Amino acid sequence: MNKLLWLAAAAMTVSAPATAATLSDSIKADMPQLMTLYRDLHSHPELSMQEVRTPALLAPQMRKLGFEVTEHVGKTGLVAVMKNGPGPVLLIRADMDALPVKEQTGLPFASKVRATTLDGVESDVMHACGHDTHITTWLATGRRLAAMKDQWSGTLVMILQPGEELGLGAKAMLDDGLYTRFPKPDVLLAFHDSASLPAGVIGVTRGYALANVDSVDVDVRGVGGHGAYPQATKDPIVLASRIVVALQTLVSRENSPFDPAVVTVGSFQGGTKHNIIPDDAKLQITVRSYTPEVRKKLLDGIARVARGEAIAAGVPEDRMPVVTVREPYTPSTYNTEKLSSRLIALFGQHFGADRVVDSKPVMGGEDFSQYWLADKTKEATIFWVGGVPKAKWDAAGGDDTKLPSLHSPFWAPEADTVISTATEAMTLAALDVLKKG
Ligand SMILES: [Zn+2]
Ligand SMILES: [Zn+2]
Repeated sequence: MNKLLWLAAAAMTVSAPATAATLSDSIKADMPQLMTLYRDLHSHPELSMQEVRTPALLAPQMRKLGFEVTEHVGKTGLVAVMKNGPGPVLLIRADMDALPVKEQTGLPFASKVRATTLDGVESDVMHACGHDTHITTWLATGRRLAAMKDQWSGTLVMILQPGEELGLGAKAMLDDGLYTRFPKPDVLLAFHDSASLPAGVIGVTRGYALANVDSVDVDVRGVGGHGAYPQATKDPIVLASRIVVALQTLVSRENSPFDPAVVTVGSFQGGTKHNIIPDDAKLQITVRSYTPEVRKKLLDGIARVARGEAIAAGVPEDRMPVVTVREPYTPSTYNTEKLSSRLIALFGQHFGADRVVDSKPVMGGEDFSQYWLADKTKEATIFWVGGVPKAKWDAAGGDDTKLPSLHSPFWAPEADTVISTATEAMTLAALDVLKKG
């Protein structure tokens, strides 16, 4: 435990003023301590399902605020519960993990951490997805809501989730009894920092917000031999090339233009030398969709195209391509109509219409989806909080393709703006959900 942070937490005022107008003042007063925490988290990133220091740092701070804290839920997850009278149960989730990326932001508190992934690969580690802003906001929101206990009624379940980047953490927490050992939520909330919005602008997507994410491996098998005697072989490189080209028509010809879908071959590997036709070639494909129907159509299509092209190439039956859809996949994230619309109205009213946008869905993935899929009668929304510094946004003419994206080694969100905006938005949303009856 960092002594400085501990003292900072202890010194934090807990007698917050009551009105929404003063909420931003209270958050402003918290910011110096919050930024100390943020910089500490940023310089100590932890890889997926190996988040040990982070929950250990946050647990005592939440206990001090009056939350009942349980650690090691879903391996390294943390659940903090505050019961405050009758009313709904609200779950607020922050994800904790960083990425195997070598930081190149040049920030004075940039990460120098190296660690080993679950796959055994040693790598530099960076909070390149901005989950450090999520964790800091999570604590800040807990502080505000603890301080404003007289203004809401219900139960708050605040969770720190491991392993989002691998799509494992939400499932791990659910499997470890998140909905049975703790009060079961009626409403689910989370936010993500955004590299596609200027700092301080909030984006809310109604309906499907993030995609189904599938990883598919295709082992294209042929019959190898001498490069100068192709007649004695079945060349898997030519076959795999045909498969790659044919896959392009799954989205462009077989799928409705009104149903978003992506099939990207991200890796194509085969062979060792100029004059050898190898035995096989390997493709790695990412497949994105929103609905279960489109997902199935794409996955079935990949298997069909691979087999069909192999037949056309005269590959013997026992050397047909092996298509593997990796488990588990990350299901698409759905923002329920009622809650997402409510948040757009609420945020618009509070921050002004120019700071709130109706965001388009994206083809990225988020395992926040799992919490709603575990019980679809609940309300759920994950919203975006822009992190691109205004000057950079303007210099790029608002074109986010000219800016570092999430997961980029150069992604340096304007953290103080993200944290203060997200804390204000999350606290407001919580007060609205847990309104006194
Ligand atoms: Zn990420
Ligand atoms: Zn993320």
